[in-house]
Amino acid sequence: MIDKERMDKFYQFIRVIMERINAHFEDQKEYIHCKEGCSLCCEKGEYPCSELEFEFLKIGFMGLDKATQQQIVDNTIQIKAEKDKCSDKIFMHKCPFLINHRCSVYPYRMIICRTFGLSYYDKDEYEKRNVLKVPFCIEKGLNYSEVYDQESKSFSTELFKKTGYKKEPLTYNLGVEMLVKKFGKEIMNLDFGEFKRLIEWL
Ligand code: SF4
Ligand code: SF4
Repeated sequence: MIDKERMDKFYQFIRVIMERINAHFEDQKEYIHCKEGCSLCCEKGEYPCSELEFEFLKIGFMGLDKATQQQIVDNTIQIKAEKDKCSDKIFMHKCPFLINHRCSVYPYRMIICRTFGLSYYDKDEYEKRNVLKVPFCIEKGLNYSEVYDQESKSFSTELFKKTGYKKEPLTYNLGVEMLVKKFGKEIMNLDFGEFKRLIEWL
């Protein structure tokens, strides 16, 4: 159980990171093709989620009508059954909170969901070097696809020049780990608890 003071701090943390993330989306708007009803990024993933984020999701869940709650429960049962049958190490699945192509708990969504759609740098887990993260929909002609070179799997200066866009693709570190460490732990002394895959909390 998360105490009120810890949850209040988390609300503050979300406000702080959202100011920054919203500013990045505004800066990158030429590349962003997200629109209502597009939910490809919620249909296949592992969704890393801390204990604190999961408690936040639960607040969102409790505010939903009974029919929607039941749909989420049914989705979860189905995903868990698929997981039990899956022998692969990595199990990718649709998010159980996705209902009719919309996030049913949008204001309460996880940190990873908040940066979906942007390109950014993140630390490689093993080699500790910066690696470019791009939304997977880049391969489907959506975000950043205009400047992405499919062969080298990187942004192309030539393609960027052709677009005539004002801003270059984003290259700040916006990884969950950095956001949690810098804004949550260092500035707010916030304890996120354990990190697991979403399905493991459910
Ligand atoms: S990030 Fe890509 S898949 Fe997700 S909503 Fe935006 S355009 Fe659609
Ligand atoms: S919590 Fe919402 S935004 Fe995040 S993956 Fe699930 S449906 Fe998508």
